[in-house]
Amino acid sequence: MMGHTHALSGATAWLLLAPGLAALPAATGSAADLTPVVANMLSPAELIAGTLVCAGAAMLPDLDHPHATIAQTFGPATWVLAKAFNWASGGHRHATHSLLFAVVAGLGSHMLAGRYPVGRDIVVILMIGLALRAIGIGIPGRTITSALVNIGLTAGTFLMLHSREVQYLWLGLAIAIGCLAHVVGDCLTERGCPVLWPLKHRWVLPYRIGIKTGRAFEVKILGPVLSVVVIGLFAARLMPASL
Ligand SMILES: [Zn+2]
Repeated sequence: MMGHTHALSGATAWLLLAPGLAALPAATGSAADLTPVVANMLSPAELIAGTLVCAGAAMLPDLDHPHATIAQTFGPATWVLAKAFNWASGGHRHATHSLLFAVVAGLGSHMLAGRYPVGRDIVVILMIGLALRAIGIGIPGRTITSALVNIGLTAGTFLMLHSREVQYLWLGLAIAIGCLAHVVGDCLTERGCPVLWPLKHRWVLPYRIGIKTGRAFEVKILGPVLSVVVIGLFAARLMPASL
């Protein structure tokens, strides 16, 4: 599945799930631990931040591919990171394309969000950068220029969210949901994913009906539909109820 489609699926997942998650503590009465995590999730600035982070996290599993365009997001910094991911996960579409990776990435980010602000900010900046790169920010063939444009736009977005005092207490949730959206997306393709890694079995759709990456269905139907869904959900969530 293309990066663009993954990022849109992450944004869609967050916009669909955030209201349900925000209502969870009140609905169950027993999820007291979730209250601070979801408290401000639906304020306009936090919703935008959550959608960007989840879209970026939906790209994270493909950082196991050093030649993919997202590895160029921040130039050599993300290329080295992608090399490390590729080495540690055993190649493309291995460990990072699993339930276990989503859980570990989510828990790790949750810990950073609560205790280590610098680590949290690095994760948030990386996710914003991946999301912007995935939706097409960058100039084909101009690696360094693209990296500089991406760094500038990411910094601007991060500072804008910072000025709105976004707390990122939901960071772990957004990262886990984004990674899961990626795994689901790749399971719909013809190559599938090792969902239960370290078990090697790949989950694919039956009868070879899996999507062929980058072909007409993904480019002409799935991508545009997801774009409309994301814009529609944003409008629905951010529009004042009185309108
Ligand atoms: Zn993938």
